[in-house]
Amino acid sequence: MPKRGTKKGKTAEDPEYRPLTDAEWNRMLKYGAFRVSDDVKNEYRFSRGDTVTILPHGIAPGTDMVQSDYWVAEILEIRGITYKGPEISTDVWANVRWWYSAKDVTGVIQSFDPTKCSPYERMHSDHTDRVSSQAFNEVVKMKKLCDDDLEQPYISPNEFYSRYDLNRRGKRLEPTPAGSSCTCGAPYAYHDSDTVMHFCPRPSCRRWYHQTCLLDAGSLFDVPAPKVQKSSGKSKRGRPSKAATVSPLLLLTSPDTSATLRLPSARTPCPAKRRRMSTRGSASVSPQKGKVIVTPEDLLEDSDREEGGSAGALDRLPSKLVLLASQPIVRGTLFTTGGVSGNVRPVVRARRLVHEILELRSDEEDNMSAEYNNDSAGVEAPDDWEERVMGLQPEVQLNECVVKIQGQRSIPVFACPECGSAI
Ligand SMILES: [Zn+2]
Ligand SMILES: [Zn+2]
Repeated sequence: MPKRGTKKGKTAEDPEYRPLTDAEWNRMLKYGAFRVSDDVKNEYRFSRGDTVTILPHGIAPGTDMVQSDYWVAEILEIRGITYKGPEISTDVWANVRWWYSAKDVTGVIQSFDPTKCSPYERMHSDHTDRVSSQAFNEVVKMKKLCDDDLEQPYISPNEFYSRYDLNRRGKRLEPTPAGSSCTCGAPYAYHDSDTVMHFCPRPSCRRWYHQTCLLDAGSLFDVPAPKVQKSSGKSKRGRPSKAATVSPLLLLTSPDTSATLRLPSARTPCPAKRRRMSTRGSASVSPQKGKVIVTPEDLLEDSDREEGGSAGALDRLPSKLVLLASQPIVRGTLFTTGGVSGNVRPVVRARRLVHEILELRSDEEDNMSAEYNNDSAGVEAPDDWEERVMGLQPEVQLNECVVKIQGQRSIPVFACPECGSAI
């Protein structure tokens, strides 16, 4: 954390504060950026559009501060004026829009509970101010946390993020904190020491549930946790050793369809012969509610069950890809490597890729086409599968997206309270 020798933040509660008048502001010239130097001549550049931290009023420059205690704002406009006297001096100010902290929000919405927000959370406000360039600290990133975003970017525990906009006049946050979170209505509190939430990515759900609420409701999927053994690593890519056994339960909870998907049989000749997709053991669909109720047996063909549940089609894919696709989608403090946002994006991408490669179809589609043509199903993952799943410059590694929860030796497979899918 750089410590700049700034003057105090020029804010209304600062005794040294003298607000810039409209006339002074209007006389100033517009700039796209400005630079500020610290005591040891490090230069910091601030541009229009940047999100920045600002030294709070009453804090002496150089005070040891954690980053989350700074004020945060977005630079809307920069203006400055040069005074020519015996010494040339410049005065630079910026018009900023404040990102409110949870504590700031309680000054607007008294009923708001700030304990549900972590120190790095901010609300986008409609409150603007002119701030002297002397109070600026550094440029930071502000990430968006969106509950139903399947492409949610990774947010580390030490990055600023936002999920609500603050409407000061209307005294409300948008979206409302209790909106669509869990069955209990309590919003995600990342920093709560025991938080773990599971996500159902089905298009009709896209909702997070507290693990404790799922346990209380007895929403357990009636199977043991996915048994995953990593391959020895000696096998060639795309040909993992026989030890790589993964439960397909979670993998088959699709982000793109609410229908039931099933894996081709382990005995499917590869890659040639056409085969019929068995309709035995299909998941039961309740037409009244449109809910799909899946039981474990439904997800594997008889031949696979006889072999102890090995999903043969998956053995032809890179074991790391299958491992990732089969993870529960989880976020919360106890899943430490998931940061604030959890593993939703990599797991969703991995599932989509596996479904695409195996050309998994729903029962409805299968009944229409009557015959499942495995010839056309690609059985090899593309060479760049890891890049496609993790991104070109991943902020987390693939193994960090594999869920390990502090204090839990195995992670239960839950049934989504809404659709019954494995989550
Ligand atoms: Zn809950
Ligand atoms: Zn669901």
